[in-house]
Amino acid sequence: MRALLRSDPEPGKCGLADVPEPVPGPGEVLVRVAFAGICGTDLHAYYSEGDYRGLPAPLVLGHEFSGVVVGVGAGVPAGRIGRRVLARVIQNCDACPSCAAGLANLCPDREVPGISYDGGFADLVVLPDRHTIPVPDGVGLESAALTEPVSVAVHAVERAESGRRLPRGRAVVTGPGAIGLFSAVLLRERGYDVVVVGTAQDAATRLAAASAAGLATRVVGGGDGDTGTPTSGATLWIEASGSAAALASALDGLAPGGVLCSVGLGDQPLDRDLASATRRELSLLFSMASGPSDYAAASELLADRPDDVRQFVRGYAFTGCEQALADARSGRTVKPLLTIGGEQ
Ligand SMILES: [Zn+2]
Ligand SMILES: [Zn+2]
Repeated sequence: MRALLRSDPEPGKCGLADVPEPVPGPGEVLVRVAFAGICGTDLHAYYSEGDYRGLPAPLVLGHEFSGVVVGVGAGVPAGRIGRRVLARVIQNCDACPSCAAGLANLCPDREVPGISYDGGFADLVVLPDRHTIPVPDGVGLESAALTEPVSVAVHAVERAESGRRLPRGRAVVTGPGAIGLFSAVLLRERGYDVVVVGTAQDAATRLAAASAAGLATRVVGGGDGDTGTPTSGATLWIEASGSAAALASALDGLAPGGVLCSVGLGDQPLDRDLASATRRELSLLFSMASGPSDYAAASELLADRPDDVRQFVRGYAFTGCEQALADARSGRTVKPLLTIGGEQ
């Protein structure tokens, strides 16, 4: 079968390959993959960067996908065959203190398909049956493959709102990738006046997509300096870029009593005196992936208002996956979605 295989940890050793079909073991199902989304994690794994250099190899990448169960291992009812499913990305242990507290997304023993074991950029994938989620009636497999990134935005917005003490006013989102733009749409639905902020590199595609979706935008740090809607006086800020400069601008820009929620995974030190944040009594929160209730909310959104999400998606054939990765890398797409088996 076809698979996007990372054959070696050395950079440049990842590409489309022909690999043997996997076989489901006890408690597992075999899924024929329909659609799969590409996210920032896949880019780090594909280019073998930073911590991701230590991933297992060989490894089939891909964690955001939908498909149909076509086989079952021992102990899984044969009635599963034909079920439309998506993969739960954070596959928790159900036995540790985090899991017992209902914080499955923080389980220290979590596994992730495409990171811990072979993932869904392939014609077939094997998953633990207990970590598959049935796709609701009324949601196509193409939309279903977007459930996980939408659930991450749902979680970030819920976390931010949990720290809100001011009336909803201006919200700022830094980082116009998929998580940032999905978050911006969710914040607007909650009544915020949203400004999406990006760099000059984001202007042509990602900020243009935000504008096309009716969101106000601002460019920072470009050659011509700042342009667009000001961000001062924001009551809520979601930082989705991972940039330390963006985090610092949030700490500077929030109104007294405002809330900052960081969902970006930055690796730069924060060079900031926090006294002014203390004087304005800001709330500082972090958001990590998503949990079961976030998947349910994401599925509901995809069933009711699929275009809110799909306006940011660009489709690619599976054979074009390396081009899709390159386009994502250079900011020429927001959310690339691969058609692997398609609607079945
Ligand atoms: Zn992802
Ligand atoms: Zn656990």
